Amino acid sequence: MPENYDFDVVVIGAGPGGYVTAVKSAQMGKKTCIIEKEYLGGTCLNVGCIPTKTMIKSVNLLRDIRGASAYAVEGVGDKVSISMPKLQERKKQVVSRLVSGVNGLLKGNKVEIVTGVASFVDAHTLQVGERRISAEYIIVATGSKAIIPSFISLEGKNNILTSTEALALDHVPESTVIVGGGVIGVEFAYILNQLGSKVFVLELMEHILPMVDKEISSLAKDRMEKEGITFGLGAKVKKVKDNTVFYEHEGKEQSIRADAILMAVGRAPDTDGLNAQTIGLEFERGALKIDQNMRTNIKNIYAVGDVNGKVMLAHTASHEGLAALNTIFDKPVSINYERIPSCVYLDPEIACIGLTEEEAGKRYSNIKVGRFPMAANGKSLVEGDTSGLFKVIVEGTYGEIIGVHLYGKHVTDIISEVAVAMEGEICAEEIIRAVYPHPTVSEALPEAFMAATGRAIHGL
Ligand code: FAD
Ligand code: NAD
Repeated sequence: MPENYDFDVVVIGAGPGGYVTAVKSAQMGKKTCIIEKEYLGGTCLNVGCIPTKTMIKSVNLLRDIRGASAYAVEGVGDKVSISMPKLQERKKQVVSRLVSGVNGLLKGNKVEIVTGVASFVDAHTLQVGERRISAEYIIVATGSKAIIPSFISLEGKNNILTSTEALALDHVPESTVIVGGGVIGVEFAYILNQLGSKVFVLELMEHILPMVDKEISSLAKDRMEKEGITFGLGAKVKKVKDNTVFYEHEGKEQSIRADAILMAVGRAPDTDGLNAQTIGLEFERGALKIDQNMRTNIKNIYAVGDVNGKVMLAHTASHEGLAALNTIFDKPVSINYERIPSCVYLDPEIACIGLTEEEAGKRYSNIKVGRFPMAANGKSLVEGDTSGLFKVIVEGTYGEIIGVHLYGKHVTDIISEVAVAMEGEICAEEIIRAVYPHPTVSEALPEAFMAATGRAIHGL
């Protein structure tokens, strides 16, 4: 490190992009500082992945207990309910344990933690309150924030929530309109419906979960409808006035009133207070512009995680941070964004990797699609949920795995093996040759690949 810099590496933001990068940087022997304005762990630990999944755990348990008589468990029934204050308390405990773990990791690795808003002075210098901090390399990991787009006008008095307020609810709204049927909209529709709110989801597109294969998202929608959620698809929300949502549907103006309105129409990169434009950092569609190695247009500044607008997922953010460090201190690393798994935490769960059937059809001239229904999977029957489907897409000649889309119990864990297979360039044939334990939901995977390349054993 040249003598005149305070640190080799300064990371801005302590979400999964920032803290993982800072820990690794210190482990690589670099003098490292992390600057965080609000909370260690970022959106993910405090108001994102972890709190939502904690709530989902409770509503899943509630549903299982309510349905326990189907499993011969007697003495429980509809009277069970969730205490919202206790749910909030448990959520806080889980979050605070993880946040203190991040604090311990940073301190244990001798990363200096600075609290405050970091603002660029020049390419090597940051201002944080009264303090100036300089570094040879700066890695921006400032995340994203919920958006309420300007084309939705807000009038009168509205009870509008973003995911952050929805996670802090101390009572369940009697009715909720959710604007946006993406991941946030759908996970909250599931949570709020199970908690007893009357839920109505309005989605601009003709299908929910735009990044998920349509066959899978439509199964999930059917299942959620059966459980009482109403979906309005192809519905463009234009105005919210006095808790009434006005939207255009099939050429007609329509409206619906609810006690709460959850805005879940996407998130935007957060560069507030960073002073990025002043030092000449370039933007692309509101995100910090990077090359394939996470480098911005200023050669010592990198941008990882939601702030670069690539794929807004926690594991992507961490992975990008490691790629940036490798690029700086070892050799350039790029990320294949088509090999990043993405999960939706409903019950049953959704997990996907690679291309959807629609995308694969456009990119490849010869594809084969295999399906295996959970109705033919022993473990799913034991679990009492056979509504799912495993769907795989392979290249027709060599059996290269192009896309895998799973809807079923435990699939958010099962998808990791497909990620490993794709990274190792393992083809359908090897998945079929591997021995899977019985009875498991995972044994449906080779069956789906068999269906793609010939015939599944347990399917007619
Ligand atoms: P963040 O986690 O947003 O962290 C950025 C940090 O930077 C913040 O702590 C912020 O305070 C700080 N910061 C910002 N500006 C400055 C500044 N100028 N100076 C100092 N500090 C600053 N992803 C998944 O993979 N799985 C999930 O299940 C999942 N569930 C989600 C549920 C919800 C409700 C939401 C909102 C998101 C969810 N996500 C999920 C997305 C995930 O949270 C993000 O992709 C992830 O947190 C991005 O990590 P990051 O480090 O880029 O940013
Ligand atoms: P999103 O982009 O996934 O979905 C937003 C949805 O809103 C889209 O389907 C869009 O068509 C719809 N929409 C936009 N304008 C509309 C309008 N005027 N009327 C009706 N619908 C409209 O965004 P999100 O759900 O807010 O999630 C933000 C990010 O957080 C995502 O990138 C996601 O990856 C991440 N996240 C991930 C998880 C997970 O991994 N389980 C969970 C939550 C959030």
